[in-house]
Amino acid sequence: MDWQTLDQTYLMHTVKRLPIAIARAEGNYLFDTEGNRYLDLFTGLAVNVLGHSHPRLMQALDDQGHKFLHISNLFLNPPAIRLAERLVKHTVGEGKVYFGNSGAEATEAAMKLIYKWTVKERNGKSGIVVLKNSFHGRTLGALRLTRQPGVYQDFPQLDIPVYEIEPNDKDALREICRNHQPAAVLAEPILGAGGVVSLREEFLTAIAQICKENGMLFCMDEIQTGIGRTGTLFAYQHFGLQPDVILFAKGIGGGLPLGGIIAGKKAADVFQPGDHGTTFAPSPLSAAMGNAVLDVLLEEGVLEQGKKAADELWSQLRHLQEKYPHVISHMDGRGMMVGIRTHLNPEKVSRLQSDLLKKGILVNVTAKTVIRLLPPLTLTAGDIEFFIQTLDSYIAEKFLVKED
Ligand SMILES: *Cc1c(COP(=O)(O)O)cnc(C)c1O
Repeated sequence: MDWQTLDQTYLMHTVKRLPIAIARAEGNYLFDTEGNRYLDLFTGLAVNVLGHSHPRLMQALDDQGHKFLHISNLFLNPPAIRLAERLVKHTVGEGKVYFGNSGAEATEAAMKLIYKWTVKERNGKSGIVVLKNSFHGRTLGALRLTRQPGVYQDFPQLDIPVYEIEPNDKDALREICRNHQPAAVLAEPILGAGGVVSLREEFLTAIAQICKENGMLFCMDEIQTGIGRTGTLFAYQHFGLQPDVILFAKGIGGGLPLGGIIAGKKAADVFQPGDHGTTFAPSPLSAAMGNAVLDVLLEEGVLEQGKKAADELWSQLRHLQEKYPHVISHMDGRGMMVGIRTHLNPEKVSRLQSDLLKKGILVNVTAKTVIRLLPPLTLTAGDIEFFIQTLDSYIAEKFLVKED
């Protein structure tokens, strides 16, 4: 049997998978079992920020792998302690980290932290404000905060107060705060699964301000936007803001499962022994990878290099948009997180994705009609040229409206 048939026979069908089986990956390219090569503009959903098999990551894997793979959270864990210190110093300055294994676990930890903080600091006055179409994970707790009906519709909802507002609607936020006194706001700086929608700077500033005025926790879900993706370590850092809680995952483990939350002083000491935990986290191997990711991002200039490559990508995409305004309606995102909104219907966008795949380029589609690019920060001028030229001739061939 082929891989596709075996997959359908033995794996639960929770995702509509692309029909290629990956044999190996190197740099910015994936190779399938048939020997075809694909430019990876998806990076395992914003995970492989440094591309594949980066030498510094392979070295960290080897070094830590030969020391110990797992010890349990009963012991002092040097790689994790070092990573936590660096995450705190590069974000809140003073605070603490809780590690889990994934994004959803980061959300779960944040929810428990907010709850305990609420009991301690606000006489139990609870409630979390979230944005319409936001995505915070698929576990039953996180699902309460994920505001995409297609994701939560078939499941029960955790009985905690949650208030949904439209992204960028600061008046709605003020009104909810006046009427319900919620304890926290949780938002993605750029909605990822929601279609790559950037929050406006004035809205982000308003969230920070309103949280401060009302004694609430300002929480940023940086699971997709973090770890250099938008040009800074975390996306909120473009705006000179200071969240109380930062959720991270995806890129931090360099391809291994790792996630968690960073809490500033306000909430750093909420959890006490027994309040939360999980067997595998923090994985020393994932943490060692996390340290290597930070080494490369912060010390080897990859953040800068990624910013330059992203500028080039955006400028070429804007050029395509000017050339084909009847196909590309607008673009959103920042750095290596790009949403190309089209006038095409979902079937055509899905066809575009599979046709590009046949031409050796992997892109993602989110919110049905948005082409989402999550390229590695190591994207080269040659990669950009390959992508732009391929997309250009594809649009010209398929969608060119002949002018009289
Ligand atoms: C992917 C994602 C999550 C969930 O992370 P998992 O590791 O898939 O559980 C949560 N929030 C955002 C913004 C994400 O992009």
